Amino acid sequence: MDKYRVKPGAKVRLSRIDPNDKGDFKGDKKEGRELVGKLNKELEALQEVLYASQKAKVLIVLQAMDTGGKDGVIRSVFEGVNPEGVTVAAFKVPSPAELAHDYLWRVHQVVPAKGQMTIFNRSHYEDVLVVRVHNLAPPEVWGRRFEQINAFEKLLAEEGTTILKFFLHIDKDEQKKRLEARLADPAKHWKFALGDLKERALWDDYMAAYTDVLEKTSTPWAPWYIVPANRKWYRDLVISSVLVKALKDLKLSYPENKDDLSKVVVV
Ligand code: AMP
Ligand code: MG
Repeated sequence: MDKYRVKPGAKVRLSRIDPNDKGDFKGDKKEGRELVGKLNKELEALQEVLYASQKAKVLIVLQAMDTGGKDGVIRSVFEGVNPEGVTVAAFKVPSPAELAHDYLWRVHQVVPAKGQMTIFNRSHYEDVLVVRVHNLAPPEVWGRRFEQINAFEKLLAEEGTTILKFFLHIDKDEQKKRLEARLADPAKHWKFALGDLKERALWDDYMAAYTDVLEKTSTPWAPWYIVPANRKWYRDLVISSVLVKALKDLKLSYPENKDDLSKVVVV
C-alpha cells in the first residue's frame, strides 16, 4: 500500500491517478470485502492494546469531495472498535467563536489523547481548500498555512501522535452517480445539500487546491495517502491495511500488572 503514499516533495497529478485502480489485488469485490473483515478484526485487537497501554496517540485525517466516502470509511473500517477509545471529530462551517480564533484552535482541542484514536471527518485542511476556492481568506493568509500546518503536525508527532492522512480520490462521474443515488433514495435526502452542486461546479478548482495540499503537506511525520475510492471496497481495503500496519509498527503491548497475580484466589 506504500505506493499510495505521497513522497515528500513529489509532484502530484491527480488526473493521472486512476480512481478505479485496485493495485496488485487480483480478487473481486467479495474477496476484497472478506479481507477488509479480517483486517477489521486485527484493527479491533490493536486498538484494544492502544487503549490499554495509554502511551501512543493516533490521528486519522479523512478528506474528500462530497460523496467521496468519508462517512462510509468511518462505518466500515472502524466497525466494532471499542467506542471508549475512538472519537470522530467532524469539522463543519466554523462557528462565530471558532472564526474569532486562529483556524487551528478548534482542531487542537480535539486531537487524540494518550491511548486514543481520533478520526477527523474533514479537518484543518478545509482552511486551505474551501477557504481558498471560495476566497474566504486572501491568498497571503491561506498561503502561509501549509507551513503552519506542517509545523503543527510536527508538534503533534513529536509529542507522540501517529498521523495518517487519506485523500479519497473519486472522479466527477462517480460523484454524479452518488449524488443521483442520494436524490433517488428518501433515506439519503438528509445527506443531500443543494450547496453540493455548487461545489461540484468548482471541481477543477478543488482539484488544484488538493494538489497543492498533497504536494506541500505530505511529510515524513504526517504522510498523505491518495486512495483510489471509486470502488468502496478497495478504498476500505487500502485504509484498513495502512492503519493495521501503522498500529503494528507501534509495537504496543498490554501493560504488566505490578502485583504478583499467580497466587491470587478469588473467594
Ligand atoms: P459535511 O461534511 O458534508 O457535513 O459539510 C460540512 C461543510 O462545512 C462542507 O461544505 C465544508 O466545506 C464546510 N467547512 C468545513 N470546514 C470549513 C472551514 N474551515 N471554512 C469553511 N467551511 C468549512
Ligand atoms: Mg455533505
